[in-house]
Amino acid sequence: MKEIACKLLVIGAGPGGYICAIRAGQLGVDTVIVEAAKAGGTCLNIGCIPSKALIHAAEEFERVSHMAGAKSPLGISVEAPKLDLAKTVAWKDGIVGRLNSGVLGLLRKAKVKIVHGKARFRDGKTVEVETETGSQVIRAETVVIATGSEPVELPSLPFGGPVISSSEALSLKAVPKKLIVVGGGYIGLELGTAFAKMGSEVTVVEATEQLLPQYDAELVKPVAKRLGELGVRVLTGAKAKRLSDEGLALLVESANGEEQRLAADRVLVTVGRKPCTEGWGLEELDLDRAGRFLRIDERCRTSMRGVHAIGDITGEPMLAHRAMAQGEMVAEIVAGKKRVWDKHCIPAVCFTDPEIVTAGLSPDEARAQGFEIRVGLFPFTANGRAMTMLSEDGFVRVVARADTNLVLGIQAVGAGVSELSSTFALAIEMGARLEDIAATIHAHPTRSEGFQEAAMKALGHALHI
Ligand code: FAD
Ligand code: NAD
Repeated sequence: MKEIACKLLVIGAGPGGYICAIRAGQLGVDTVIVEAAKAGGTCLNIGCIPSKALIHAAEEFERVSHMAGAKSPLGISVEAPKLDLAKTVAWKDGIVGRLNSGVLGLLRKAKVKIVHGKARFRDGKTVEVETETGSQVIRAETVVIATGSEPVELPSLPFGGPVISSSEALSLKAVPKKLIVVGGGYIGLELGTAFAKMGSEVTVVEATEQLLPQYDAELVKPVAKRLGELGVRVLTGAKAKRLSDEGLALLVESANGEEQRLAADRVLVTVGRKPCTEGWGLEELDLDRAGRFLRIDERCRTSMRGVHAIGDITGEPMLAHRAMAQGEMVAEIVAGKKRVWDKHCIPAVCFTDPEIVTAGLSPDEARAQGFEIRVGLFPFTANGRAMTMLSEDGFVRVVARADTNLVLGIQAVGAGVSELSSTFALAIEMGARLEDIAATIHAHPTRSEGFQEAAMKALGHALHI
């Protein structure tokens, strides 16, 4: 059995782990990273990147289909388009492959040793990895656990056959005729919308009373409207029970307690993700938990000295950019720098149609924290750029303290608003006040003018509304 010793061992090469290893390598820390599957983790292989590729392809297809229906006011007409999903998926796989080797290249450039195989803890400082060439023992002074998350399975609707998780949905060879999506959260709505645009008859079954329950109702309204336009059927307050015995159908208990039978070719279950904590010896370390996740402090330290945890395994929000920021911080801590988690906000984007962005506090969250607030909302119906792009639904909303005008939160819903997320986060991290945003020249014509106008509205002097 081969043995290696290192200063830092990172388990899992997702966005949390690979960023941690690259930064540690850059800082001269002797680093080993172990990956059981492919570099890039969920995000790059079966998450953020492939889903956005599919969403883009679906958008393009729907745009052309719309023109073919002679419905476009732009004066463009085309023949009805066709979609070859196998080709689309091959294109998506090409992007994943490029990024995959990119991550491996960056790790090598930072002089990180990469070990392929599943790590299993022997103790808090030692793991054993089954590699293609035999067993490898790795001893480290510091360990970072970055093993991510996996889809939650419903006991009455286990994955297999027609019941699929997001991973299978991203690699289908043909567009399902009838697709039922169980769970109207991030993945369900992003992928459900994409399949509706590609021609599936989509039904979303959501247990709570609202789609995307993590966002406030005002933000979700334009998304629900668009789903209606795309012909997506939405059942809220509904519970998926099981597949029916005869024929392919899902039995659903609707809000009024009645049982419905919904025909389906595929049932996509997206009811959340759970941390990867089982089956690789983590149980033996007996680390403190926060629910199902690992408990960490403001330096991503677990309850065991010398063992850090980052990314999805540490809980909500399970977002790639949070994992990366934690990874970068932990690498610097291991290299001896003084760092602590001091972020004011973690922006979140839902890539639905239209997109939703949030950074900082919503009006309700701000009030719940005891702030007296002022809120400015600017609709895209009054934004020139939105009109020229045929996408006027949505708005930008700014939440600020009533006494100092310090910006506490910014939200937007609208086409392409994901690209405003960094501006929103920057404003909050820099401690911007409404006056700072109102006084900053925003280029014309852009959707970002809506941000400036929302700040002006909160100050009582919006110009274009
Ligand atoms: P992961 O990316 O899950 O990586 C963990 C890695 O650890 C994996 O490669 C795994 O193989 C490896 N591993 C696990 N156990 C072991 C072991 N014992 N030994 C060795 N290796 C091991 N987030 C966003 O911010 N934006 C998005 O648009 C977005 N879209 C998403 C779409 C989908 C369909 C899904 C499923 C997720 C999406 N996410 C998105 C969430 C994002 O993918 C995760 O938050 C992110 O990948 C978490 O990073 P991580 O490093 O914690 O873990
Ligand atoms: P989610 O938490 O976003 O949504 C799950 C939904 O399923 C919720 O609305 C919940 O009420 C519903 N639900 C739960 N049990 C149900 C049941 N039995 N029947 C019907 N509905 C049920 O989870 P997800 O969509 O699986 O995504 C997992 C995580 O991945 C997200 O929380 C997010 O952190 C991450 N993600 C992020 C992005 C992004 O940043 N754009 C995209 C995809 C995924």
